[in-house]
Amino acid sequence: MMKKLLDRIAPHRQRSVLWRLVAEAGWPYRWRFAFAMALMALVALTTALSAWIIEDVINEIFVGKNADMVEWIAVAVVAIFVVKGAAAYGQQVLLLRVGNRIVADLQHRLYDHILRQGMGFYQSMTSGDMTARMTQNASAARQALTLLVTRLGRDALTVVALLVVMLWQDITLAAIAFLAMPPAVGAVAWLVKRVKKYARGEIAALSGIVSTMNATQLGARVIKAFGLEGRMRARMGNEIETMRSRSDSISHLLALTNPLMETLGGLAVGAVILYGGWRVIDGGSDPGTFFSFITALIMAADPARRVSQLMTQLRQFLAGAEMMYETLDAETRIEETPGAVPLSLSGGEIRLEDVHFAYGDTPALKGISLTARAGTVTALVGPSGSGKSTVLSMIERFHDPDTGTVSIDGQDLRGVTVASLRGSMALVTQETFLFDAPIAENIAVGKPNATEAEIEAAAKAANAHDFIMELPGGYGADAGEHGARLSGGQRQRIAIARAMLRNAPILLLDEATSALDAETETRVQEALDRLMAGRTTIVIAHRLSTVRRADHICVVESGRVVEEGDHDALVARGGLYARLAALQFGPAPEQVETE
Ligand code: ADP
Repeated sequence: MMKKLLDRIAPHRQRSVLWRLVAEAGWPYRWRFAFAMALMALVALTTALSAWIIEDVINEIFVGKNADMVEWIAVAVVAIFVVKGAAAYGQQVLLLRVGNRIVADLQHRLYDHILRQGMGFYQSMTSGDMTARMTQNASAARQALTLLVTRLGRDALTVVALLVVMLWQDITLAAIAFLAMPPAVGAVAWLVKRVKKYARGEIAALSGIVSTMNATQLGARVIKAFGLEGRMRARMGNEIETMRSRSDSISHLLALTNPLMETLGGLAVGAVILYGGWRVIDGGSDPGTFFSFITALIMAADPARRVSQLMTQLRQFLAGAEMMYETLDAETRIEETPGAVPLSLSGGEIRLEDVHFAYGDTPALKGISLTARAGTVTALVGPSGSGKSTVLSMIERFHDPDTGTVSIDGQDLRGVTVASLRGSMALVTQETFLFDAPIAENIAVGKPNATEAEIEAAAKAANAHDFIMELPGGYGADAGEHGARLSGGQRQRIAIARAMLRNAPILLLDEATSALDAETETRVQEALDRLMAGRTTIVIAHRLSTVRRADHICVVESGRVVEEGDHDALVARGGLYARLAALQFGPAPEQVETE
């Protein structure tokens, strides 16, 4: 309700981060927050009572020597503190739980949003960045909210209740004490500005640390093999030191509020003692009033200091929350077009027409046109960086063309639903990503709910069944993180099994460049042949055997198709293909007739 109201007043991007936090993340828990605040009011009230009762302690017991009152006052004091303790416990537990829920809500939202992003999003962000956003930003948002509630609820209310005691006891003394307020506010405002600057830096440094950590884990082999430990240590050392120095700056600024507030508070207490003391000595005031006032003043110092730190601390957390909203506001590039219909496949002919596409400022495709006829194998060949992988990305609709069209069986991809499009194709890439889960589950990625028999049949067709059976645990064996427990050739065959299981009419294949031993190579090739049969296949070819088998070859250079035809025709032409073939596939194509 409040969210809708706010949306009407100002679109969410124009509202402050704090506003959005309150309206979007905090509002669902408003009743719990209200209850916590009621308990905090009780804490404030009992704190004020404990200062108030000092008047009776001094006047009745010490000055009046009134024996009847001793027990009553003692009982009242115990009661006040018990209630205060219980209320403080209740509000703290309540806030912690609400806080945890808010973090969980935000993480659900963030992850959902991240999953809906186009490929460009993942490529523009490091894993550290994403991790920082999921963990640190969500908890910063929570801390901002709970901070706001405790500072405004418990601390500000306590200060107000104690102020009431002071005003009640002695208005003149209260006026003297208040003189310390304006300089305090000014000093705090100055600190707030400085903290803001460092808070973002701290978060950026953290994501640097996480990224380096991930790189270390993923690149452990390379690091060891090339002796890069020193370089990694230096890089990580840098990140850690940046983080430390940023945190230092913030801690320093936060700590600075202490001497500021203590000095101002000391001045106020000193002035009160000077004036109030003289009044008591003169007989213009009783000692109970004076002590009660001093107690209230001293008790108010701590919560007042915390309230004064509110804006500095809030700044720090809001910087994190701001980054979180940046993530949540990032538009999902590839979205279902309104009115998109499911792809209706007849044969699976894929056509790119005059497609231009750039990654930001880097042009990758410059007017490429090609047709992959239904049920045939089309090979893409070309120097690295010529745009071959980008073509596959366009067909998967990981990106949309800047101009030109990509269509399947005459239907522009932008007009069909993403689920039906991706459901009609299988992708087998060089780097097979395996989840740290049992092999069977890794194959079933191709078709959730596949039966065991189906999984096994796919594995057999992919020439993977035999090696899987040799693993301890067979189909139940864990693949290890990123498939670390399998060899390159084994991972490829798992990828082929996935595609087999998916049984999609369109196959996108990025052939592995890494050399396999002859036997594995043959088994992978056999599996691929089985997979390609009867499907529209586009393959980024790195092997002569593949291009020779292709029905059609498109030679890609600088984002365009420069030659096309079959192997023999292209070799006869003596152009780029002939040169590439000689370089990549062996000395002279004629001599490698026997594969
Ligand atoms: P190929 O697969 O033929 O090696 P790609 O399609 O990967 O070529 O790349 C085509 C061009 O686009 C290259 O210049 C490459 O540097 C650039 N490129 C590829 N991916 C990205 C990306 N995520 N961000 C920016 N530029 C990219």
